[in-house]
Amino acid sequence: MKAARFDYHRPATRAEALDMLQTLEGAKLLAGGQSLVAMLNMRYAFVDHLIDINRVEGLAGIALGDTIRIGAMTRQRDILESPALKARLPIVAAALNFVGHLHTRNRGTIGGSLGHMDPAAELFGIATLLDATIHVESRRGPRDVAIADYPQGYMTPGLDPDEMIVGVTLAPPAAGHGWSFLEFAQRHGDFAVVAVGTTLAFDSAGKVADARIVLCGMGIAPLRLAEAEALLVGTTAEPEAIAAAAEIAGRQEAMSDALASETYRRHLAGVLTRRALTEARARASHGKVQ
Ligand SMILES: Cc1cc2nc3c(=O)[nH]c(=O)nc-3n(C[C@H](O)[C@H](O)[C@H](O)COP(=O)(O)OP(=O)(O)OC[C@H]3O[C@@H](n4cnc5c(N)ncnc54)[C@H](O)[C@@H]3O)c2cc1C
Repeated sequence: MKAARFDYHRPATRAEALDMLQTLEGAKLLAGGQSLVAMLNMRYAFVDHLIDINRVEGLAGIALGDTIRIGAMTRQRDILESPALKARLPIVAAALNFVGHLHTRNRGTIGGSLGHMDPAAELFGIATLLDATIHVESRRGPRDVAIADYPQGYMTPGLDPDEMIVGVTLAPPAAGHGWSFLEFAQRHGDFAVVAVGTTLAFDSAGKVADARIVLCGMGIAPLRLAEAEALLVGTTAEPEAIAAAAEIAGRQEAMSDALASETYRRHLAGVLTRRALTEARARASHGKVQ
């Protein structure tokens, strides 16, 4: 099938793009096109105006400091292949290895992934795990959206129609943290049925100081397991503590769809959480200077 008729626009500057978003009725931004173009061609989505932001300068790049800021138009491949990011926050590249295929990652962007907001999207899960702040702009000015406030419904981000994501800031755990990102999908490159991401940071006494766990694919948005995280803090993340955290993962609400039943998703959540925490514990420096 082919997309229904629309007008194509290619702004050169951010101001021009924001002007178009504000004034054109029925407009959508085009980033990597890896989700939107397929949806237009299959006529799941309709637009009157497509605003292609691929030539807008200043929207791509990775800045590392205490936090990590990634521009909205940064390609998934550039994030995956950044040596500095891989050294500071290896879980991001690990998750990106599950996102589609080489060719889709060459074009797909982090802003597009967050804009599309598939419930099982790995980058959406990473943003949730790492307490992301999403930076948006409109002609009315800039605005920051905490990731917890971002999902408004199924594939419905908390953005106004005239707003554009310009970047995302991730809050990494302390250096020496252990991490793991595991997922179950029907085929490699498919969206996850369930995915689990976790980080564990230990203090100098070898106790967990910071635990983070996210489940993707269970509901409309990634789910942080606050109860399991709290349970792990202060422990050595011994197998009993990990089993208790996995038990919490396995009793979360989950959706049923053509891919998997609620029961199966819960089973996956429990098994993957146990494996991920075990792997994260093994990778952590346990408070030792590395
Ligand atoms: C074969 C295949 C397999 C895939 N597998 C996976 C997978 O396993 N996991 C996964 O997560 N993804 C997967 N994807 C999707 C892929 O990661 C897309 O790249 C991503 O979902 C959208 O990014 P994009 O840059 O291509 O955005 P686009 O398709 O251009 O846009 C997607 C949506 O975001 C909006 N948008 C884009 N940029 C912005 C912005 N700056 N501000 C506000 N809104 C914006 C658009 O208007 C649109 O609604 C797959 C895609 C394909 C084709």
